[in-house]
Amino acid sequence: MTPSLPKLSTLAFALALSFAATAQPTTPPGITGFSPNQQAVELKTEADFKQQQDPARFRQHLERLCSVPHVAGSRENEQVRDYIAETMRKADWKVDIYPHDIYLPKGPGEITVEVVTPTRVPINTKEFVFKEDKYASDPRVMSGWNAYAGNGDVTATVVYANYGRKEDFEQLKAMGISVAGKVVLARYGGNFRGYKAQFAEANGAAGLLIFTDPADSGYMLGLTFPEGPFYSESVIQRGSLLTVPYTGDPLTPGEPALPMDGPIKIKRLDLKDVALPKIPVTPLPYGSAIEILKRMTGIKAVPAGWQGGLPFTYRLEGGPELTVRLKVQQEKAIQRVYQVVGTLVGSEFPDEWVIAGCHYDAWSFGATDPNSGTSMLLSMVETLGKQVKAGYRPRRTIKIAHWDAEEFGVIGSAEWSEQFREELVQKAVAYMNYDAAVSGRTFGAAASPSLKGLLIETTKSVQYPDSNKTVYEHWLGHKAGGNPTRVAGSSAPAVVAGEPTIGNLGGGSDHIGPYMHVGMPALSAGMEGPTLYHSQYDDLYFYDKFVDPTYKMGPMMEQVVGTLTLRLANADLLPFDVVRYATDLDVHLRAAEMAIKTYAPTYSIAPVLNEIASLKKNAEAAEAARRSYLLGNKPEKLAELNRTMRQLEQSFVDQKGMAFGNWYRSLYASSDPYSGYASWMMPGFLYEASLKSTKNLPDLEARYRKAIVSLSDKLSTLVQAMNPPASVGGGNK
Ligand SMILES: [Zn+2]
Repeated sequence: MTPSLPKLSTLAFALALSFAATAQPTTPPGITGFSPNQQAVELKTEADFKQQQDPARFRQHLERLCSVPHVAGSRENEQVRDYIAETMRKADWKVDIYPHDIYLPKGPGEITVEVVTPTRVPINTKEFVFKEDKYASDPRVMSGWNAYAGNGDVTATVVYANYGRKEDFEQLKAMGISVAGKVVLARYGGNFRGYKAQFAEANGAAGLLIFTDPADSGYMLGLTFPEGPFYSESVIQRGSLLTVPYTGDPLTPGEPALPMDGPIKIKRLDLKDVALPKIPVTPLPYGSAIEILKRMTGIKAVPAGWQGGLPFTYRLEGGPELTVRLKVQQEKAIQRVYQVVGTLVGSEFPDEWVIAGCHYDAWSFGATDPNSGTSMLLSMVETLGKQVKAGYRPRRTIKIAHWDAEEFGVIGSAEWSEQFREELVQKAVAYMNYDAAVSGRTFGAAASPSLKGLLIETTKSVQYPDSNKTVYEHWLGHKAGGNPTRVAGSSAPAVVAGEPTIGNLGGGSDHIGPYMHVGMPALSAGMEGPTLYHSQYDDLYFYDKFVDPTYKMGPMMEQVVGTLTLRLANADLLPFDVVRYATDLDVHLRAAEMAIKTYAPTYSIAPVLNEIASLKKNAEAAEAARRSYLLGNKPEKLAELNRTMRQLEQSFVDQKGMAFGNWYRSLYASSDPYSGYASWMMPGFLYEASLKSTKNLPDLEARYRKAIVSLSDKLSTLVQAMNPPASVGGGNK
């Protein structure tokens, strides 16, 4: 998953969880989307749900899931799959397993790094075994590696390229330093690692070493592992290098990678037509990178901002004496992965789907990333299962998805999204992603506009453990704290005064397919804290010692997620925050216009901006109409109204797709195509701005205008459907 993001939102009625006050038909409903009667039922259901959490049960799941390393495609990961399926079946959920055949690396293969001249020095690519961490000595732990690295054996002089961002390579060029034929050293951070490889290769590098710098993740931040939670000298960040201009299996863009031996034959791309890295690439811990960096003798010191945390001045070049060998031989093949989806069929609206998910494959043990999320979801499945056994059923269908091969490039969820695209467009209510959702004690969230109000409202109804605060108050309290793992360059969230910050969804996890390809409203939420991201130490020892020794955060997140799920599943009218579309669009479109004005100062996208006023008017009218409609308790039209509400987010789906990759069909959001992780709001405009071009702006303006008008029209349809004209009303029906 991505190093995560921060948060925020809108309208929210302070909700006191007292049952006595709930059935007052004259007061507006305290929970958005519920009629007074349904609200009383809902509060009872939620209170019942909140009786069931148990730290021991959360821990048991975590222990079962994280006792061995389980990379996608491995036998161990199939055992994890079976445990997940069995746990959901035992809780009375229907379980479906969807296989996909994906082009995947089979493991690290052979990796050699050494200083060749002036002195031969072998370079370590494995993590240390500490006696206090019983997991660290597991023979199945793999060395540090980068999935989809090219194969090769090169020996060359070295160049340091800071974070290996587009601008870093441009700056090197401007300083007269060529990376052609060299081994490039770049530090982790600033962008998705795959782009470091892409830019290094495009600039002619022979190979790339990506190292963790102590200034970004190590001793400069605090005590290091095993004494503290920060990266120590041997800790390695693993990770994929995949940067094809779509998400999912590299061989089947836009199509589900159905099994090769199944009845439906999917056309697969020829490998030679797929832009996978060609140069060898491997990650290093700082205890190894120092062996190269300290031997560099180039006469130029690094420019401002490029110095890291090792105890000497960083240099741009290694000089002619220093040569380094990098060999990578990594086997890749089509391998089977499995999406596991549990379903609880709704009692009233079975064809309306509320979907939550988290991947289950991990780089090693996966205690925080991802399986803290898996354990929380399994606990929730069990809690809902108990309620079902006691005779309860949610009104809409709930699906809990456990995705495979996320770590290799968000693959399983993207294939499933492609496989069920048309059905999801019709049936899906929302997608909620809980990758690594219980990784610390600080709440954070990112969401599409229409789910922001729900997040605010829900976190106000859950108690933060061992405190007199709600999760919402806790969230608000650390607003100014920032997030150390947040990736630079993501577009600024649309902040509303007095509320916590809700981030924009960018790249890096399983919401991409549902949100940016299918066009469902989406959110991501979880507890954050320091992690040894993608290292072998993301295990139960680390969790016990540094994440949450009390194991109470799991149950707390289960309550947040359970409440979000139940409200989406049971609301009379879907609890979408429609006014927020106008608020956020205004912020993001103005930001996009600013980006254009940096190179075309007189250009204005006024025709698009001008549509926001009527959108806002219609959204406010829809909001008011929903409130009075719910007070009137008229259930007969709910299916029709909710069908229209499910189509709101579809307004931003653009069949042409984005110019940087037409798999990305949302005009509203995409991951930043230059950095991978960061979020791009209004990506059509931002991409054109990145090219400093105005050529496509008229076409883009027309497409954005059309999307906003379509959204506005749907809202006005809703208003009309909820408020029949006075001449027709009059009580004679
Ligand atoms: Zn993850």
